[in-house]
Amino acid sequence: MDLKLTEEHKMIRDMAREFAQKEIAPIAAEIDEAGRFPTETVAKMGELGFMGIEIPEEYGGTGLDTLSYVLAMIEISKACASHGAIMSVNNSLVCHGLYLFGTEEQKQELLVPLATGEKLGAYSLTESQAGSDPSNMRCTAVYDGQADEYVINGLKAWVTSGPNADYIMLFAMTDRSLGSRGISAFIVDTSLPGFSPGKAEPKLGIRASHTSELIFEDYRLPARYRLGEEGQGLKIALSILDAGRVGIAAQAVGIAEAAFETARDYAKAGSSLAR
Ligand SMILES: Cc1cc2nc3c(=O)[nH]c(=O)nc-3n(C[C@H](O)[C@H](O)[C@H](O)COP(=O)(O)OP(=O)(O)OC[C@H]3O[C@@H](n4cnc5c(N)ncnc54)[C@H](O)[C@@H]3O)c2cc1C
Repeated sequence: MDLKLTEEHKMIRDMAREFAQKEIAPIAAEIDEAGRFPTETVAKMGELGFMGIEIPEEYGGTGLDTLSYVLAMIEISKACASHGAIMSVNNSLVCHGLYLFGTEEQKQELLVPLATGEKLGAYSLTESQAGSDPSNMRCTAVYDGQADEYVINGLKAWVTSGPNADYIMLFAMTDRSLGSRGISAFIVDTSLPGFSPGKAEPKLGIRASHTSELIFEDYRLPARYRLGEEGQGLKIALSILDAGRVGIAAQAVGIAEAAFETARDYAKAGSSLAR
């Protein structure tokens, strides 16, 4: 595999580095301590094309390759892990998932605003009793044939950008008797009645990226927002998570580089003081 950077790769890396060091690094400590979601800089990431890097331009994305995504993700995460987490979920889990599994109508209506960064996305699979084992999921989506809608009830857990997202890729049981084969995928609009973000998790780090519960109480979703067929939810969820691992790895590289450079600079300053 040839990992030599092209001029285009260098351009996106340098652009991300300049933006991250100029606009994100100076606020990183403050937003982490305050647990403040960085609305303004996330909007700027959208304007720069960082919220849908691999999505083709016809769907609002930047139309670049995975290496470009990785390079940008490293630079953003190096300045602030919270920005990295928000960017990674929107790119890898939500936009990529919609691109792979959405219908043309869903892409035009939902993917375009998500990939341009006009709207923010989240991904919700986990529940308190269903982490490693999603077949234990209790959130239900019951089809109401008369209204051609699903009625969603349940409590989800640990959702990155849960309280900030406009659209959430949600996994819920349409047939509990089938276990993991009874899970289906949906894109829910958080502005509709019946949705509220629940308790926010008090994390030790990455605190400007909010992680919360989601509460659905008789939330009604038009059936056209189901992603894929009924029962395909777990397959969709896992294939999206697989693709997302590259973003998480890039985040880790950025955080590790920042930790190394901070420790190196501290040690150098210490040794010059000792002389
Ligand atoms: C900061 C943060 C952000 C997150 N963001 C999201 C998000 O955006 N969307 C989302 O859906 N989820 C999110 N999650 C949830 C995350 O995906 C889950 O934490 C994960 O699926 C593991 O589930 P769990 O925490 O319930 O652990 P558990 O499933 O309870 O596992 C605990 C431990 O037991 C081990 N274990 C589990 N089952 C077995 C077994 N059968 N045999 C042996 N060992 C086992 C596991 O490997 C693990 O080490 C987030 C979590 C965190 C911490």
